[in-house]
Amino acid sequence: MKGLLTELDNLGCEYIENYSMKRFTSLRVGGEADLLVSPQNYTGFLRILNILSSLDLRWVVLGGGSNTIVADSGLRGVVIVTKKLRNIEIMKDGIVLAESGAVLGTILKNTIDAGLTGFEFAAGIPGTVGGGIFMNAGANGGEIKDVVERVWIWLDGKEEVLSRDEIQFEYRKSNLPKGSVVTKAMFKLRSGNRKESKRSVRDYMDKRSETQPIKMSNTGSIFKNPPEIPAGKLLDELGFKGVGIGGARFSEIHANFIVNSGHAYTSDILKLIEIAKEQAFLRRGVKLETEVRIIRIIGEELN
Ligand SMILES: Cc1cc2nc3c(=O)[nH]c(=O)nc-3n(C[C@H](O)[C@H](O)[C@H](O)COP(=O)(O)OP(=O)(O)OC[C@H]3O[C@@H](n4cnc5c(N)ncnc54)[C@H](O)[C@@H]3O)c2cc1C
Repeated sequence: MKGLLTELDNLGCEYIENYSMKRFTSLRVGGEADLLVSPQNYTGFLRILNILSSLDLRWVVLGGGSNTIVADSGLRGVVIVTKKLRNIEIMKDGIVLAESGAVLGTILKNTIDAGLTGFEFAAGIPGTVGGGIFMNAGANGGEIKDVVERVWIWLDGKEEVLSRDEIQFEYRKSNLPKGSVVTKAMFKLRSGNRKESKRSVRDYMDKRSETQPIKMSNTGSIFKNPPEIPAGKLLDELGFKGVGIGGARFSEIHANFIVNSGHAYTSDILKLIEIAKEQAFLRRGVKLETEVRIIRIIGEELN
């Protein structure tokens, strides 16, 4: 680790040791990561990935932390965060290039301002390009796969470009090659009407504030919707609204959201997830799969 810190100093890269992941994840839980590294720019990002892959250390890349829960015992290894890789370039013919840490909401705003349409689906999704592509984030009848054309990835020391078809997106899932890191992406949007786009965004946001616990720390949907029934409806029917352990509980507003009342631990959330899975299967024969990514050990993420 010491050698790495020297390399990071030489690169002028910001890092924080023993960083509380509570400060980073949107559900505000999780222990300390040994090291949180925040590359300053694209070239620095690639350099750091190359350096880390040559060392015997575990590492993971995170975007906004809005779909991630970290163990209370923290993470042994390095968390690379892309928050400074935010460049968004709007080019001719509706082409948009965005770095992995660009925030989906900013792309939405900038593209509407530029008279483009197609990104409205992302209204209210608080993630980044990297996390959005990894998860194939979607809402309001659209998904990132509908607008992405190409994705640049870093894999084993090399940069490659993949077309949308090569990624074979599925519901809340990409099939990026294992170990790849999204570095930037190209989107293709259409000419639109600013007023109409803004109206759609307003409607989507109004709907969210009526149906989701937007005032409390949460991590979006906990479970993917199984084919049989929306997860929220199922959990509501099973009586999960308001059911809690410690400082965490299933929201009274939307049963597929777990909220943190301020003093939750990851262990509380994981227990709630297990109980919900068990009850859904025992009482309704439905297998719930988590949408949220759970990191206990870097490199062995679960969902
Ligand atoms: C209030 C709220 C509402 C939400 N609503 C929605 C919704 O409507 N629809 C929806 O789909 N999701 C929703 N989410 C979940 C979340 O915002 C999305 O999944 C989002 O795409 C996650 O992006 P992120 O950058 O925060 O990812 P993170 O949580 O940082 O990471 C998620 C996963 O992506 C991987 N990852 C991140 N960056 C990269 C990269 N550069 N290269 C490779 N892998 C990477 C991480 O390792 C991790 O496994 C919501 C969350 C919240 C808190």
